[in-house]
Amino acid sequence: MNFSFRNFLILILVAIAVLIAVDFWKAEKKLPEVDYSTFMAQLNDKEITKVTIEGGIITATDKFDRQYQTFAPDVKTVLEKLEKQNITITTHPLKGTSSLLFSPLLLIIVLGGWMYFLMRQQKGSGFAKNSTLITPAKKLNITFEDVAGIPEAKEELVETVEFLKNSGKFTKLGGHIPKGVLLQGPPGTGKTLLAKAIAGEAGVPFYSMSGSDFVEMFVGVGASRVRNLFDQAKKSAPCIIFIDEIDAVGRSRGAAGAQGGQDEREQTLNALLVEMDGFKSGETVIIVAATNRPDVLDPALLRPGRFDRQVNILPPDVKGREKILAVHAKKLIMGKDVALFKVAKSTPGFTGAELANLMNESALMAARKNKNFIETIDIEEAKDRILMGAERKGMVITEQERKVTAYHEAGHAIVAELLPDADPVHKITIIPRGRAMGVTQQIPLDDRHSYSREYLRSRIMTLLGGRTAEEIIFNQFTTGASSDLQSATEIATKMICEWGMSDLLGPRAYVVADQSFLQTGTVKRSYSEETARAIDMEINKIIEDCYQETMIILEGKIGFLHKLAETLLLSETIDAEEVNIILKSNEISRQNEEMLRGRQQRTLPT
Ligand code: ADP
Ligand code: ZN
Repeated sequence: MNFSFRNFLILILVAIAVLIAVDFWKAEKKLPEVDYSTFMAQLNDKEITKVTIEGGIITATDKFDRQYQTFAPDVKTVLEKLEKQNITITTHPLKGTSSLLFSPLLLIIVLGGWMYFLMRQQKGSGFAKNSTLITPAKKLNITFEDVAGIPEAKEELVETVEFLKNSGKFTKLGGHIPKGVLLQGPPGTGKTLLAKAIAGEAGVPFYSMSGSDFVEMFVGVGASRVRNLFDQAKKSAPCIIFIDEIDAVGRSRGAAGAQGGQDEREQTLNALLVEMDGFKSGETVIIVAATNRPDVLDPALLRPGRFDRQVNILPPDVKGREKILAVHAKKLIMGKDVALFKVAKSTPGFTGAELANLMNESALMAARKNKNFIETIDIEEAKDRILMGAERKGMVITEQERKVTAYHEAGHAIVAELLPDADPVHKITIIPRGRAMGVTQQIPLDDRHSYSREYLRSRIMTLLGGRTAEEIIFNQFTTGASSDLQSATEIATKMICEWGMSDLLGPRAYVVADQSFLQTGTVKRSYSEETARAIDMEINKIIEDCYQETMIILEGKIGFLHKLAETLLLSETIDAEEVNIILKSNEISRQNEEMLRGRQQRTLPT
């Protein structure tokens, strides 16, 4: 809406500023008051030098230049006396107009009137006029075929399609059809797509709206929108109502971090519950809601008869990713050399939306090169672009900066390569991308769902590898390692506070508040100062131990470090195979060296 919360805030602030200004202005004008007889006495004693008359209010200045005010019941008698004494008299008409203009009361009335006007405008414009808020129902030709990689979720929803298509069959015996389905999962995993596919499969209209659209500034607007939406949907039943981000409306009452007014959200939520409870039989409207924060939802939403079907959607595994890639590749012209399972393998953690984006970027990449089809190299480049940001070709880098970056990245790579628990190196580059001067990409062998302590320590060591290499070679630190240090500290903190990986503190979680609580600043800590200090020490210990180990690894492989950095400086990007070749050749040359040294030692006279 054009009248947003921000505008409203600015308005309030301006109003407050004006009121304060008016107050100041008044305070300044305010002079000490004396009673009329005191004034007359002073006048008779000839102590008054100057007088200003404004209506009945007299401002007098005495011979010490002090000012005060009094009110004269009859100005005429005063005037006569003043004239006799030859006192300077200034007169003003009653300052009616100006004081009225600045009267806070008037200001409030004007503002109130304006807000009322805006509110009426908002309420008046229902859904029909608000085409941006609700997508008009249309028949979609999206089907389950378009949704890949989440077979369990699809299976659960086949029945929902059946309900929509054939409601009579299910209600024949008096039962009623489940109304609400809650899809929970991270953004981009295909929740919207799935809801559309249900509508598409059943051939029914699809209404959609986002939870954040419901939560407006003014109490009652969201609720009236909910009623409007349901009214329209009921008219075209059977149909689907899709509510994205339901957590914006349905946050449990009293939870922190909610946006918009509390009252407004509660009213909207209540309207939603009333509408959901109030279907007549024969109106098959199924409400599909999506959220990535099921934990914050109000329990009232999840009660039987409401969103009692809950479907979990997780980011796809490697097989799922291959299938999703296939869905999107079907729409593109792919070259023969592209093996989607390899792409799937190299994209752990990608969601459906990210995979769709990858395929699209690859097509653009190939088109930029005037190719007729997409090749593996295009996909690889598109992936780098997505993961690491676009190359910054125009950036001016000094030779020294390049050298430092090369050693930094080589440091990361060597540690990752040599630690058995670390993810293998996929690619190293010293081409600046996004905000990074260089990148070392690691790709896990499989989709990991939990991490061992050794794995996490390897991760920290890999992160510290960059800075440690800089220290060994140049004996100095650059700012380039700041995000490495931040990530390392984050992992160490989680190891201690969330995953109970400290021997000293034991298997206990030391986090109380989630992020939304942190944002509102109401962090409640359930441990003592002493424990807080112990936590700090344990985190430091992990980082310090990892740093020492990293130092030992890199100092022991200094030949490898030089070789890798030099190769990077020459060819800018190195892939896993090359790293291995350099590592092996380095091993061989080291063995040769040792052999030589051994021979020398043997020939030394004893
Ligand atoms: P969400 O609603 O969970 O945030 P969307 O449904 O909006 O995610 O996904 C955005 C896009 O990503 C979809 O339009 C589709 O192109 C692609 N996508 C996401 N998940 C899948 C999937 N499982 N199969 C195929 N495409 C997917
Ligand atoms: Zn780094």
